[in-house]
Amino acid sequence: MNALAATKRNFRLASHILGLDSKLEKSLLIPFREIKVECTIPKDDGTLVSYVGFRIQHDNARGPMKGGIRYHPEVDPDEVNALAQLMTWKTAVADIPYGGAKGGIGCNPMDLTKSELERLTRVFTQKIHDLIGIHTDVPAPDMGTNAQTMAWILDEYSKFHGHSPAVVTGKPIDLGGSLGREAATGLGVVFATEALLADYGVSISKMKFAIQGFGNVGSWAAKFIHDRGGKIVAVSDITGAVENPNGIDIPALLKHKDSTNSLKGFNGGDAMDPNNLLIHECDVLIPCALGGVLNKDNAADVKAKFVIEAANHPTDPEADEILSKKGVVVLPDIYANAGGVTVSYFEWVQNIQGFMWDEEKVNHELEKYMRRAFHEIKAMCSTHGCNLRMGAFTLGVSRVARATLLRGWEA
Ligand code: GLU
Repeated sequence: MNALAATKRNFRLASHILGLDSKLEKSLLIPFREIKVECTIPKDDGTLVSYVGFRIQHDNARGPMKGGIRYHPEVDPDEVNALAQLMTWKTAVADIPYGGAKGGIGCNPMDLTKSELERLTRVFTQKIHDLIGIHTDVPAPDMGTNAQTMAWILDEYSKFHGHSPAVVTGKPIDLGGSLGREAATGLGVVFATEALLADYGVSISKMKFAIQGFGNVGSWAAKFIHDRGGKIVAVSDITGAVENPNGIDIPALLKHKDSTNSLKGFNGGDAMDPNNLLIHECDVLIPCALGGVLNKDNAADVKAKFVIEAANHPTDPEADEILSKKGVVVLPDIYANAGGVTVSYFEWVQNIQGFMWDEEKVNHELEKYMRRAFHEIKAMCSTHGCNLRMGAFTLGVSRVARATLLRGWEA
């Protein structure tokens, strides 16, 4: 099932549990605005290339729309639409005063030089600058983009609107970025994992982990799990995979990846087939890469007891059903990876206040938000007798529905 169909399905199930009015249900599924732009740039060799960029603004009932911009060859409008909807429910689950949006450019950032990426980002910003803003829509990094991308957007946007650091989050610290933002999604994943495991009377230090993806989210999550004594027995990314049943030395793997840009050739474990990562022997599986990776073809072979969705929509509904029948507990994306956007909110608040927090405060607040959301999800699960995904969806959807009704929505 594609990402959009899966996201709508989860929303409808939640809406049904909550007994939402059918017209309200319908209207909450329709994006506020869908932007599609052609971004034409000269390559370094002078030839012209064109890429299609999207920004889909889903809902703003609870505040400015918020979400990342992704550079990836598989970016398409349906997927961006699904990711924008997920942001609406995610910001509501985290209880930060935002709606949801997502953007993307269909390109492979690895095939572009730094100056080509800069030109592409600036052209994209020129085309959408009137439709984003501190109180309308605040972009952030996602797959294939980073703090440098945000710096270019900030610079280009500021040419039209004056210096506006709060128009993007996930910026470099020197341009008003928040301490702790880069690590925030990974740290949030670990706070979420701690909350879930505590609920089952276990702790990270007693568990074996397999992690798919060793980019911004996976590598930070691995570091924090390792710091807490968790044993990471397998890691994969697009360059390869490594396993070690005695636990991988994560600081050594981070150094290796830093110097070689690859997981290949690491001598602290054995190379393995990255395709087997999701079905590797472990207690906790953390997909931190693309969507749809857990599906009907592999779900039955998952060995983990817990799946923590650090990626967006890694589990499709068919896999969800198979995993649930097997008794595997799935911690849903709209909660598990909400640490990134939560610290984005702290960054925006710091920019608006003109006051910088120290890293301890950022991490302490993040922990508070993640713990609170877990307990609120659990409360929804017991009220409605549902699993964690529906607990999170009913929590998020009910908050957005309430805000919509309070604003005076008319059927
Ligand atoms: N791209 C991240 C996400 O999917 C962060 C979004 C943000 O900080 O606005 O949640």
